[in-house]
Amino acid sequence: MQIDYFRCEVCGVQVMHSDSTNEDKFPVTRRFRDQLYKKGLISVRCARCVALPYKLEVGQPYRSNLLGREDTQVVTGCNSVYNYWPYGVGHLLEVFPSSCDPESLSFYDREPIEIGFLVEGDVNLIVVAYRFGESDWNVTPYLWHAYHESARAIPSEESSETEQEFTLAVVDTEGGKYRVIRQGKLPQEFATMFHRAIHQQISQGLPDKKEYGVRIDRLYELLIENRVDSMLEARGSIGRDINGTLAAHLSK
Ligand SMILES: [Zn+2]
Repeated sequence: MQIDYFRCEVCGVQVMHSDSTNEDKFPVTRRFRDQLYKKGLISVRCARCVALPYKLEVGQPYRSNLLGREDTQVVTGCNSVYNYWPYGVGHLLEVFPSSCDPESLSFYDREPIEIGFLVEGDVNLIVVAYRFGESDWNVTPYLWHAYHESARAIPSEESSETEQEFTLAVVDTEGGKYRVIRQGKLPQEFATMFHRAIHQQISQGLPDKKEYGVRIDRLYELLIENRVDSMLEARGSIGRDINGTLAAHLSK
């Protein structure tokens, strides 16, 4: 029997796997499915890193456990999620639109993106807001504590160039693949304010679970009567800055 040890491609931890051939044996090993790996149909990740984004590329599945699967339907509680990920991914806003028809994709691909955030201090909630062009704001909650230790990072308050990089990725819920990737830099001032809010959130600690949950369920209320606009702590366009001049452009 050929025995291969292998490691998680993200964090390098030795991946252990048990199957019928190695039951009750130690160390736990498995024969590596070389062929499938070479064809890009499987990814070697530990149970934790499987929760991280796979590859920020158009056409790639947004999580590695969807590799090689076409007939899958992604069901999410929100129509978008934001996290500051480790392993060089950084700021990532994943948007799950109701339609990924060519017209919608071209819209997401082309329109300037504006990012903002607001803080609901009483429940220690950061709300990330975004919009394409002149469309209405959309919002998604962010709580650093809600992510597993291995799936969250902390940008520095001074925000280096790299930490200002922001990715917006459109995920097709039919199949779970990235259909649009936009990458650019947050304006320095915005990044600093945003990073400080994250630091503040971390030090404030876990909010009351029930109150937090109630607030999350009522997030949609922010979208009524344009309330987001007046509540934003900071905003910055990634396509154009707030004065309408070209600040940075998200390249594909
Ligand atoms: Zn790992």
